[in-house]
This record gives sequence, C-alpha cells and structure tokens, in this order.
Amino acid sequence: MTATVLSGRDLAAAIRAETATRAALLAEAGSPVTLAVVVATADESSAWYVRSIAGAAAKVGITCDVVDLGADATVEAIRGTLEALGADDGVHGIILQTPLPAGASLEDLAGAIAFGKDVDGANPLSLGRLAAGLPAFAPATAEAVVAILDHHGIELGGRHVAVVGRSTVVGKPAAHLLLDRNATVTICHSRTKDLAGLTSTADVLVAAVGRPGLITAAHVAPGAVVVDVGTNPTADGGLVGDVDTTSVAAVAGALTPVPGGVGPVTTALLLSHTVRAAASP
Ligand code: NAP
Repeated sequence: MTATVLSGRDLAAAIRAETATRAALLAEAGSPVTLAVVVATADESSAWYVRSIAGAAAKVGITCDVVDLGADATVEAIRGTLEALGADDGVHGIILQTPLPAGASLEDLAGAIAFGKDVDGANPLSLGRLAAGLPAFAPATAEAVVAILDHHGIELGGRHVAVVGRSTVVGKPAAHLLLDRNATVTICHSRTKDLAGLTSTADVLVAAVGRPGLITAAHVAPGAVVVDVGTNPTADGGLVGDVDTTSVAAVAGALTPVPGGVGPVTTALLLSHTVRAAASP
C-alpha cells in the first residue's frame, strides 16, 4: 500500500481567500484588521515563524505588528505589553510567541491576552471553554488537525483516534476537538507504556511530539490515517515531521505531508481567527 497524501495547501488557500474577502470588507468599513505578535526571544526558528505569519497576513490584507521586546524582557514588561494591546481598539488579535525568556512561561502570561483577541487559544480561559464545549478560539494547530481531516472527508464519529503528545498548544486541545466530533480518543505521551501497541489499534493517528521519525510502521494500523503535526528542522534547512514517512507510507491509508500539511492550515486559521475577532463586537 502507498498512503494517499493529504495535502493542506488547497484548504489553506480556501481559508486565506475567505479571510482576504472578510478583511477587505472590514477595511472598507473603516476597520482594517491588525494582528499583534509579541516576541521576547532571539530564537531563529521563532523569527522565521513570525516572518512567515507576517508575510501570510500581508497577503490577506491583515496588518501584522511585531512587538519585539528583546530576549531579556521581564515578565512585567511582557504582561504590560499584552494588557496594553488588549486595551487597544486598533488591535484585533494577539499572539505571544514562544520561547520566552528564562523565568517567563506561556502558561503564566497567556492569561494577560484579552480573551476576545486570543486568536491562538493560549489563554487558560479559552482552553477551559474549549474543554467545556463552549465557544472560544481553539489553538490554530489543534483546529488544523480536525480541519484537514474534514477537508479530506475522513470520518471521525465513533472512530478511535490516538493523539501522541499532550501539550497545551496541540495535543490536549486537539483531543478535545476530536472528542467533540465523537471520536474515541486515546492521548499518549512520554510515559505511555507500549506506545506502538496502543497507536496501532487507532483508525486515525495524530503525531504531535517534536521527534523526527518517532512514528514508524510498527505504530500504524494497516490503512490508518496519519496526521503529522511535527515540525522538526533538519541540518540542511529543511523540515521533517514526527513520522518516518518511508516506512509509514507503506502501511497507512493516508498521511499528511511535512511541509505542506498541518502547517499551512494552521497559519491560515490564525488569520481567519483574527478577522473573526475583528468582526466580533
Ligand atoms: P511539546 O510541548 O514539546 O510536547 C511534546 C509532547 O510529546 C509531550 O506531551 C511529550 O510527553 C510527548 N512526547 C515526547 N516524547 C515522546 C515519546 N517518546 N513518546 C510519546 N510521547 C512523547 O511540543 P508541542 O508544542 O506540542 O509540539 C509538538 C510538535 O508539533 C513539534 O514538532 C512542534 O514543532 C510541532 N508544531 C507544529 C505546528 C504547526 O503549525 N505545524 C504548530 C505547533 C507545534 P510529556 O508530556 O510526557 O513530556
């Protein structure tokens, strides 16, 4: 068997097109849309990610204001900036970029992101509401996992989905979104015993770990759908996921690529959330 490739590029383009239309209407009505990205790191891969968000925002008519506080920013300075952006009527979406300086944590600071502008679902209020099944912006990557499965017509109701990874930004919110879609969800992590034994019973496997090649053919049931969330930089400047593509493609029924799978959908959803935040009273 050779797995079908579940690209995210068409879906991302469709989301971007709709977002651009909505951003243009808001601009015509006198409310141009602005996304603020707060940065407090000199990390190069973070800088690359921020540049890619800014470039994607520009293409859909959203202004991206990068507020760079420097890698030595204090917790108070970051919190104060988030609060000021929350009070600024000209700012519609706020992202706090990681990594953060020593002593600062996303869990601690995300509560200072205004709920209505929390377009990457980082505020514990957003996460709690998501867990309770109430309206809130979900973390874009978690939403992208479900969106890409929907786009390719993968049924979730009643199916067993194994999510490998339990982070607050990807694994846990993805599990909640999948539960909302009536999947039977198993969440696996670094202390899970017999990972392959569990994941190889899943109809859908979501890998969100950050370890290249962790998921091999032994982890995948024949014909299963595999969503590779991992984005791991390679020595030659490329990007690989968490899935050992060569062995898994021979067993799985379908597989999202890296790059070109979850990543572009994530960025598109972040911008879509921003226009939705701008359109909300
Ligand atoms: P993270 O916070 O480091 O969490 C990694 C998770 O993987 C943890 O829950 C950890 O378990 C688990 N884990 C580590 N080693 C494991 C093992 N050997 N077996 C099973 N589970 C293991 O990472 P993250 O922020 O969730 O990101 C995960 C990946 O997604 C990274 O590659 C990241 O770059 C990528 N990502 C991609 C996008 C995108 O747009 N495509 C966006 C965000 C993140 P413990 O909890 O027990 O430590």
